[in-house]
Amino acid sequence: KLASKELKQTKTTIQIDDLTIGGREIVIMAGPCAVENEQIFYETARKVKAAGAKILRGGAYKPRTSPYSFQGLEEEGLKMLALARRETGLKIVTEVVDTRDVEKVAEYADILQIGARNMQNFRLLKEAGASGKPILLKRGLAATIEEWLMAAEYIMSSGNPHIILCERGIRTFETATRNTIDISAIPVVQELSHLPVIVDPSHATGSWKYVDALSKAAVAAGADGLLIEVHDDPARALCDGPQSLRPDKFAFLVEELKAVAAAV
Ligand code: PEP
Ligand code: MN
Repeated sequence: KLASKELKQTKTTIQIDDLTIGGREIVIMAGPCAVENEQIFYETARKVKAAGAKILRGGAYKPRTSPYSFQGLEEEGLKMLALARRETGLKIVTEVVDTRDVEKVAEYADILQIGARNMQNFRLLKEAGASGKPILLKRGLAATIEEWLMAAEYIMSSGNPHIILCERGIRTFETATRNTIDISAIPVVQELSHLPVIVDPSHATGSWKYVDALSKAAVAAGADGLLIEVHDDPARALCDGPQSLRPDKFAFLVEELKAVAAAV
């Protein structure tokens, strides 16, 4: 299999201009769950950049559990992402939820995100892969590591080897956190595959209070990076406010992570 270590022993790195994912440095992707309005988005972008994030996240197409929840600004959101990239120099990662949007999203984004709910949407995997853009592949809510790697295989077999795996918590019987973070997925994936693996402690826990501890745990376990939700004003967020860090807390965490990364 293309994603397996048996086939390729050296670790895959993803290169976007001068940024390397899967190299020696931990890469931090941060930003709000959704692109909501210009002012909050640019303010958040500016602050995560100042704190040391290299990639800006923000959903323009949101896969919401309820059809009555905010669904995203769509192309207007993509334009805000592109503007924020121009203003800050941050790279952009954003989710694509439909094969019909792949081309459009790929015009604006540096990395296409495949969300947990679409991990086994095989048509979407193939079309996103065919765009040639690096793909951030989230683990499905109830997917085994094997199934997750097979999803990566769909992208790779469409000719795109630039994949970043993202552990974002799985469904378990535990309800104290939104999902249960699978820290063991990090060393397991690194044993089975040459692909870089990052962790999203925000969706994994659903609560900003635990993001700090689990970010450190992920880095200590060898993750290649983190995807963290940060919002300039979490109380007013239209999506995932309770799990979003304020920029000042995020900046503090990034500083603390340096010591953890140095110890790995
Ligand atoms: C997200 O990153 O905003 C998101 C919807 O994540 P997931 O697909 O992991 O739920
Ligand atoms: Mn979110």
